[in-house]
Amino acid sequence: MPLFKTPDQLMALGQDLMLRGDFSSSKNKYEDAAEKYRVAGNPQMAVVAHAYAQLMALGAAAPGVTEYAAAAQALSPLGDYPLKLGPRQVPASTLAREAGLLAEQSSLAKSTPHTPADWSDVARRNQALSMEFRQLGNQNLLLPELFRHETMNPAQLAPSAAARAEEAMGEAVVLDHPKEAAEHNENARNWWAQAGDLMRAQEAANRVQLYGRSARCWFCGREVTGEGVQYVLFASDIGPWSSVDSGAGLGSVDPSRGSILACRGCASAIDRIADQHAIERAKEVEVKLEAEIQRLEEQIRRIPR
Ligand SMILES: [Zn+2]
Repeated sequence: MPLFKTPDQLMALGQDLMLRGDFSSSKNKYEDAAEKYRVAGNPQMAVVAHAYAQLMALGAAAPGVTEYAAAAQALSPLGDYPLKLGPRQVPASTLAREAGLLAEQSSLAKSTPHTPADWSDVARRNQALSMEFRQLGNQNLLLPELFRHETMNPAQLAPSAAARAEEAMGEAVVLDHPKEAAEHNENARNWWAQAGDLMRAQEAANRVQLYGRSARCWFCGREVTGEGVQYVLFASDIGPWSSVDSGAGLGSVDPSRGSILACRGCASAIDRIADQHAIERAKEVEVKLEAEIQRLEEQIRRIPR
């Protein structure tokens, strides 16, 4: 065997290492092959070798947005060119599509929406993802299976993404329209049940309950909807005297939880007053401590050495 391998030989070595599950070494061989094809003036094969290298990167370490996006990008110029992955031949376009969807899924999992506009965007992207997964049918995704021994079925991923879309739609409107948010979470509950995720289905059901609840503020008497949204609970000494409500209709007391119900406006005003008191109290303590420290320092100085 000659010391310097031809790019074709490097490609064969890459396949061999891939079959043995050594994706990291395989990736290096494909990268070397790509470089040699480039130098030899064979840009087409350089693209093929580079695509293989990016695929192997999915097996080398836990892949995230960067790895999946890089694989999708490397595969996309190849169209339906057949790639050899062990005993299978798979069109590059199939793998490119999967890598693109997995990149989007990882990106969504990492996103940290804050504003209603952020949540609307997350909802829209999850809806699109759900649609794409639905189009893939019932075949397990190849990339997770080949490189991570993971089973990911689009028929299950589709309802999960749809559930996340509904939850995000709920978050986008919850402050202004908690009842609408409750409806979105009811839809989410259905999707999670369809995806077989009973824990998340239960969480969505809990939000339906919370967002659907209404109360009358103990302090100002305003009618508010959505527990933890438009109103909160304050632990309070309630007794028979407080159970007589101000009027008919919505309650201001929750005896089972020893709490009164306060609208967000009243609750935040009370919180701020409490914060101010706490800060003043802390300052008083600080002043006393400083005086004490000075007194001690003075005593230490007087100790004869
Ligand atoms: Zn109030």
